[in-house]
Amino acid sequence: MRVPVVELGGAHWTRTSRGFHPAGDEWDGISRIFAEMSRAPEQTFARFINGVHAPDDVKSAAVSFIEGFNASNRNEVSVDWLNAEQRASREIDGDRSFRVLTGYGGVALHLARGLDIRFGSPVSEIRWQPGEVRVVTREATFRAARCIVTAPFAVLQQARLRLEPEPPALKAAREAIVTGDAIRMTFRFSEAAWTKAAPDISFIHGDADFPVWWTAYPVQRPVITGWAAGPKADRLQDASEEELKQTALQSLRNLLGEDPGQPEQSWFHDWRRDPFSLGAYSSVRAGGMAAHARLREPVENTLWFAGEAVATGHMGTVHGAIASGIQAARGIAGQIR
Ligand SMILES: Cc1cc2nc3c(=O)[nH]c(=O)nc-3n(C[C@H](O)[C@H](O)[C@H](O)COP(=O)(O)OP(=O)(O)OC[C@H]3O[C@@H](n4cnc5c(N)ncnc54)[C@H](O)[C@@H]3O)c2cc1C
Repeated sequence: MRVPVVELGGAHWTRTSRGFHPAGDEWDGISRIFAEMSRAPEQTFARFINGVHAPDDVKSAAVSFIEGFNASNRNEVSVDWLNAEQRASREIDGDRSFRVLTGYGGVALHLARGLDIRFGSPVSEIRWQPGEVRVVTREATFRAARCIVTAPFAVLQQARLRLEPEPPALKAAREAIVTGDAIRMTFRFSEAAWTKAAPDISFIHGDADFPVWWTAYPVQRPVITGWAAGPKADRLQDASEEELKQTALQSLRNLLGEDPGQPEQSWFHDWRRDPFSLGAYSSVRAGGMAAHARLREPVENTLWFAGEAVATGHMGTVHGAIASGIQAARGIAGQIR
């Protein structure tokens, strides 16, 4: 089975104080800041950006990118970690984007071929000692000699899924890794107002409560998805879904500079309130790189951690999560050969 993907391309537009225009110029300014960051010592991004000599609007675009794309907080996130992420992204041409035409479910189905997957069966506890693991769910307890733990890091961090005893590497990573927040609002309209700006518009961003929007391009549908992450999502955490819908619509109006009309339908998700995520994805706090690296080591050759929070360089991504799972599986295969 092949998973059908298409490279995105298309126009990226941004709204700044100078109007609504293709995003290239702004990206050049951010890239110069990232080049300077690659030579900077470990510190928080906030500390680094305060010392940078660049126009204020470029600095604030860089902060928005770091906080929005990484769902992280400038006052916490590690410059070493951001540099590792930038290097890893360059190695795989990370600025190229692709869409999975079947939706991401197609990737999960592809990976799940031939496996015995139990749905609706949350694990409450993993009890272990060297060479022996018991995975406890409401219905059953599963026994194994080894186990790969792929629950979201926040689920482990907040002990929704408890490891008994707690491995020291997990304890250390608890302080080092932060799970950022993200909320998403998808609207379907009767027609796509945004194609008036550019028929191939794929991505819009600017200064708004929901600062980032994706169209369905290259699929031509009047569907658009708005996103707020990091501190922007935190600021909206007490609003009701209806209030968020109105806020998102206002953001879209402001960014487009015109009224897209009323949506025919909307869909909303808040990963922070989802008990099986408890946040969007992870980043590393300044000073936390060593503790993060320890999480990739097997625990007594019995437990392996995998998932986006464990990934090298590609934290917070699907490909990083998959690569970390492959690495853990190879670690186990190496033992049982
Ligand atoms: C809105 C949004 C957009 C994103 N866009 C992109 C993108 O374009 N490209 C990209 O690469 N990445 C993107 N990401 C990030 C990407 O989705 C994650 O990095 C990736 O899904 C992490 O995979 P994972 O296997 O580590 O965790 P998950 O995909 O979260 O999988 C963990 C699984 O564990 C299950 N689970 C939780 N608790 C328990 C329990 N107690 N017992 C049993 N199972 C449990 C969950 O239900 C879930 O199925 C996005 C994330 C968000 C929130």
